[in-house]
Amino acid sequence: MIDFHTHSSASDGAISPEKLLARAAREGVQRFALTDHDTINGYLAVKDRVPPGLRLVSGVELSCQWSRVGIHIVGLGFDPDAPKLLQHLKELDAARLGRAERIAERLAKAGMPGALAGAQSVALGAQIGRPHFARWMVMAGHVDSEAASFKRYLGRGKPGDISVLWPSVEVTVRAIKEAGGLSVLAHPLDYKMSAIKLRALMADFAEAGGDALELINGRPKPSDTATLWRLADELQLGLSVGSDFHKDTPYGASLGVDISEIPAGRGIWERL
Ligand code: AMP
Ligand code: MN
Ligand code: MN
Ligand code: MN
Repeated sequence: MIDFHTHSSASDGAISPEKLLARAAREGVQRFALTDHDTINGYLAVKDRVPPGLRLVSGVELSCQWSRVGIHIVGLGFDPDAPKLLQHLKELDAARLGRAERIAERLAKAGMPGALAGAQSVALGAQIGRPHFARWMVMAGHVDSEAASFKRYLGRGKPGDISVLWPSVEVTVRAIKEAGGLSVLAHPLDYKMSAIKLRALMADFAEAGGDALELINGRPKPSDTATLWRLADELQLGLSVGSDFHKDTPYGASLGVDISEIPAGRGIWERL
């Protein structure tokens, strides 16, 4: 059992890094990465206090862009002290804060003043993201559910969907590589791209030095996994897996992915 894609309360997850690791160990996960959005603060907090039976690798899920589409790249096994990576994370912090300010302006215009302070009070010092706005909007009574806040205000094409100049795929992969880590293209089928565009993204990712694609993210459909197998074979990319766990939900994935059906030589875990 491996889980190389998870979130804690250091970004938009519900559970503290400590509790998440304890739970992963209890549920039989052997190798684990905490991959919060654009921050390694959660990883730094627990890296020297890993429960017995669990092997922790460094991780982060970096926001970037390709052809104006927001893309996520998971970095694994990097040196958390590498100056260029730390600089990269600092720039992402600033981009997120700038975006949060603009989201709040848009929400104020839509009749929801005080969203920045509200989202910050929900985030409690975590890397701020749209889910914190969503939770605040529910608490403030503006919407009935977080899903509704994405649907009406924060999701693609809605007022709170602010385009951000995230770094390029190339710059992102380089920052991870120069820190000694491996790069994984996260949830490739979530970008809603045509097959041709997705293949072009993957080719650019591979060209930039990307190492693997995420074959399993949460609970994929078998047909999606088949599509990703074909792409990975074609582009000679390695494979990674993760639950993308944020919190317990009725139909959500639990921690850990069984890798027994992935043939030897393909898993990125063999290189970490
Ligand atoms: P951000 O990184 O701030 O752009 O926020 C993106 C995060 O919001 C994702 O990592 C998900 O955790 C969450 N998210 C994205 N779309 C939705 C949605 N439609 N409903 C609920 N959560 C979402
Ligand atoms: Mn998230
Ligand atoms: Mn993601
Ligand atoms: Mn994620």
